[in-house]
Amino acid sequence: MVITQSSTSIFLPPEYTVGVVCALPKELFALRALFDYRYQDPQVALDPYDTNSYVFGRIGHHDIVAACLPQGEYGTNSAADVASNMNRTFPALRFCLLVGIGGGVPSKDHDIRLGDVVVSQPTERESGVIQYDLGKTMEDGTFKTIGSLIRPPRVLMKAISNLASDPELPPDSLRSYLEQIAARNPSYRHPGQWQDILYESSPLQGNPCNGRDHCDCPQTQREDRSLDHPRIFYGIIASGNQVVKSSKMRDRLGEKHKILCLEMEAAGVMNTFPFLVIRGICDYADSHKNNTWQEYAAATAAAYAKLLLSYVRPLRSAERSAPGLLNGSAQGTLDSGQPSYVSVPASTTERPMKESLNSTIVTEFKPSTTPESRLAERRTLARRRQVWNPWPNDALRIFRSLERWMSVPGSSLLVLEASPPARARAEDLAFEVVDFLLSTTPYTVIYSLSSLSCRSESTYDLLDSVIFQSLRINTTQPPLECQSIHGEKDSEVKTWGRFQAAVSQLHHGFLIIEGRDARCTERILTILSETINHPEALIKSMVIAYTTYLSFKDIPPQRTYETVKIPPQPPQGRRKMGLTTGRATKWKHLKPRFASVEPTESHSN
Ligand SMILES: [Zn+2]
Repeated sequence: MVITQSSTSIFLPPEYTVGVVCALPKELFALRALFDYRYQDPQVALDPYDTNSYVFGRIGHHDIVAACLPQGEYGTNSAADVASNMNRTFPALRFCLLVGIGGGVPSKDHDIRLGDVVVSQPTERESGVIQYDLGKTMEDGTFKTIGSLIRPPRVLMKAISNLASDPELPPDSLRSYLEQIAARNPSYRHPGQWQDILYESSPLQGNPCNGRDHCDCPQTQREDRSLDHPRIFYGIIASGNQVVKSSKMRDRLGEKHKILCLEMEAAGVMNTFPFLVIRGICDYADSHKNNTWQEYAAATAAAYAKLLLSYVRPLRSAERSAPGLLNGSAQGTLDSGQPSYVSVPASTTERPMKESLNSTIVTEFKPSTTPESRLAERRTLARRRQVWNPWPNDALRIFRSLERWMSVPGSSLLVLEASPPARARAEDLAFEVVDFLLSTTPYTVIYSLSSLSCRSESTYDLLDSVIFQSLRINTTQPPLECQSIHGEKDSEVKTWGRFQAAVSQLHHGFLIIEGRDARCTERILTILSETINHPEALIKSMVIAYTTYLSFKDIPPQRTYETVKIPPQPPQGRRKMGLTTGRATKWKHLKPRFASVEPTESHSN
């Protein structure tokens, strides 16, 4: 049987960290058209009192949950209700985006056209959104807004700085997204600049025009743009519960609060959660407003949201860790005592070990047999096994899991789950994987299996082996702090910290590690989940876990990964069933692939 290369890139259960609220279905349509992947099975338990209806998808590296206001409802209260429901069901959201359409407030300083995008930009004192209809009239007749809205999170503001200052960004950076949406529904196309008419502000006296077609109201003369592509404006957005259809009111608010956009939901959602407001401009909030530009404006807002998300780095626990553990104390050399038992595949990234590394890391453990010799034994075994199929019933399932883990860039963590009777089979598989990777790929392979690379079955020897191997490859590892668990010795705490540092520094490599006992396995999984379990991961890890011991209680529920269950050995008689002529072919299908874009420091950090 041929295992075909999978084209989708989603196999890990999603971890929803970004929320999107839209007011109108046509806004949500545009966003959904930009999903790179839509989750049919969102794999979440909804709060029973949450009345929202959600859609789930993935954009770039972010798993997204999106909801729309109930049909026919609008305004700050309805928006607040949707946002608070979302917040309750998805407490792990990092931030939310309010994506949709709004009225533009063009001025001498801001040549806002229909289809342009206005993004709320907080100032030192303001959240970037003001609720203009909530406030008090002062004695001198001026209106003062009250209440403060929650500011957007810093991670988003940094991403915006990065996006706005990116010299590589082409002037039509949203075009491919806009085309993607229009391909789903042609009404989301640019209506043409000739349909973008800005009328002079209504005269203060006299009847304002009711905005019917073919009126004779004077039009503001503006030069056509050379490019039918939205421009992005950052500034204050005014939010209120009434539809503004008056150029007088628009200009008054614009002058007073320096606003760029008028809309009706932001003030509601921003009382509940950190939101960034993204508005495609669909009209000029005057009596001439009509629906012609609504779809296109919804598309430009959604397109900007997708562009922005590409600048937001997904969560990585490495960013949260503080350096300091190995500082200063690292002394000694590794030259004379350099052990020969560590298997590090030849690699261009290999460099001599830094002299300053702490020699105690490695001199403490000296396995009796070298991994190379053990691996040679295993290869012999594996060759012998080619005449019979050790996985008569499970080969396809297991290979599919292996293929996803190896070939899908975002699939970074695979757990071989084995009950104690299946332990030997899980080890066998791990050996075969190590052997395969070492013999057919140029990548770094670090493996720590108690019967292969370690003389003892101590958790810390297993970790030390990983640390040492990674130090051989990467000599510039910054140390990481690791939290002490009750009763843990200082040296053990340090070992965990170094292990995490080692893992977070690896790139384009594989880590195959065995969890010895429950606590060890859970901690390894937690560290790996936090450190490498994201779509940009440049390291893939396989953990062998013995299920009897696992409670998974310490692993954050949303940090999930693919698990493949290794069943115990089939009865002796059935083992010889079916020659696996296709076995070698299947292995050939395993092609390691990592995320193509290496995350850079400049991304929102
Ligand atoms: Zn008119």
